[in-house]
Amino acid sequence: MIYYDKLIFEISKPGRIGHNTPKNDFPKAVLPSSLLRDEDAMLPEVSELDVVRHYTNVSKKNFGVESGFYPLGSCTMKYNPKINDELASLSGFQNIHPLQPITHAQGFLRIYNELSIYLSEITGMDAYSLNTYAGAQGELAGLMIIKKYHEDRKDFKRKLIIVPDSAHGTNPASATVAGFDVLEIQSNPDGTVNMDALRASLSDEVAGLMLTNPNTVGMFEKDILEISDLIHDCGGLLYYDGANLNALLGVSRPGDMGFDITHLNLHKTFSTPHGGGGPGSGPVGVKSFLAPYLPGPIVEKIDSKYHLVTPSQTIGPLSNFYGNASVYLRAYVYILTLGKEYIPMIGKLATLNANYIKESLKDLFKLPIKEHAMHEFVYDGLLNNPHQIKTLDIAKRLLDYGIHAPTIYFPLTFSQSLMVEPTESESLETLDHFIETMRTIVDESNQNPDMIKTAPHHTIVRRLDEAKAARNPIVKFKDII
Ligand SMILES: *Cc1c(COP(=O)(O)O)cnc(C)c1O
Repeated sequence: MIYYDKLIFEISKPGRIGHNTPKNDFPKAVLPSSLLRDEDAMLPEVSELDVVRHYTNVSKKNFGVESGFYPLGSCTMKYNPKINDELASLSGFQNIHPLQPITHAQGFLRIYNELSIYLSEITGMDAYSLNTYAGAQGELAGLMIIKKYHEDRKDFKRKLIIVPDSAHGTNPASATVAGFDVLEIQSNPDGTVNMDALRASLSDEVAGLMLTNPNTVGMFEKDILEISDLIHDCGGLLYYDGANLNALLGVSRPGDMGFDITHLNLHKTFSTPHGGGGPGSGPVGVKSFLAPYLPGPIVEKIDSKYHLVTPSQTIGPLSNFYGNASVYLRAYVYILTLGKEYIPMIGKLATLNANYIKESLKDLFKLPIKEHAMHEFVYDGLLNNPHQIKTLDIAKRLLDYGIHAPTIYFPLTFSQSLMVEPTESESLETLDHFIETMRTIVDESNQNPDMIKTAPHHTIVRRLDEAKAARNPIVKFKDII
């Protein structure tokens, strides 16, 4: 097949074109010669049909939530209703210019303002800035707020951010980038905070604690109110990593648990397609005493008009203009479509679905944590494993059955972690299909272990040498053609 395995540059033929543009009547002299190209851009020369076939074939090689079950733990790969995309692409939103006078952008500003209010209501916080582009950037904003808050109180010795060792890697990274030292504390075997370790780490140098609840193993932090008291009594602030909010949505609120600052991952919890690294939005929410520190501008309603406001002690802007508008337009539609009535179903169904799978396969897979899980849970390899089948092998074989692999080898707490997050979107039949497929794979691994160890066999790309791919990545098409 001429199209199937080729880069678009490989089917390029000099002089072939796919479109006619009007003649350029823009006077060249307007641009300084330093800005003009010496050579033509290296673009593929292809017909329209070549382009259509190429991208149609590329799209068939892709795997997404719309192709099959995608239980990638920690990533909340739920279904993203099409109405979100449709309304976010209305021309009134798409064509708005970031420098447009605000009198011409009242509708957009209203959505910014109302979404901030809805997120505050859902999470029990008082104010939000939507300016940050991702969860990790929201973390950075939150930590910069913690820093400025202590500095404004002339409390300069608070240099430590406590992070449990079960945290997502972005937590210690953000704390370091914000200029703190990270004090890692060991978690309990189920990833929850070890209260003795926490007590031992407290001092007047502690600026704050970062916590994910439920944590990355899917466990709810039962001691959260006591944790909150301990941190606040020693003068620190409590930061909520909101990546797992899906488990609690509409059921309980970080603001009520004592958190002072939170980031949300709108692309995870509030349904934006986010495979392959983007797009994202990581709003930062705070209790009222920290609202003056939010990154700005934010939008406020004053005398029935919407205005851009720079909070009085802002840490400064962290993005151009308003942030990733298309993601929060989708979140706005998603929240309004479900409303107060159905949003609580999200957390409950996500939890039910995870526990249904967890209990259904515990005769075959090791369950390092047996307690009730929230939206995700972890298996730690096969219970009976005479052929030394690894989690990697199971994950690769799932691809042959058209199912995206769960997250593997995270969390690091277990050697064969396989972390499953089905989300609330999936039907009972899909969950049963996954369970049956896992059973088939375990049978196969007893009958024919070599076949499992060399899977996948039916995908376009077979098992990769991952060390080689990491050490010698080929990322430029010129290295191939
Ligand atoms: C995804 C995730 C993050 C980082 O969020 P991004 O939006 O990918 O930057 C942080 N913490 C946890 C627990 C996550 O799952």
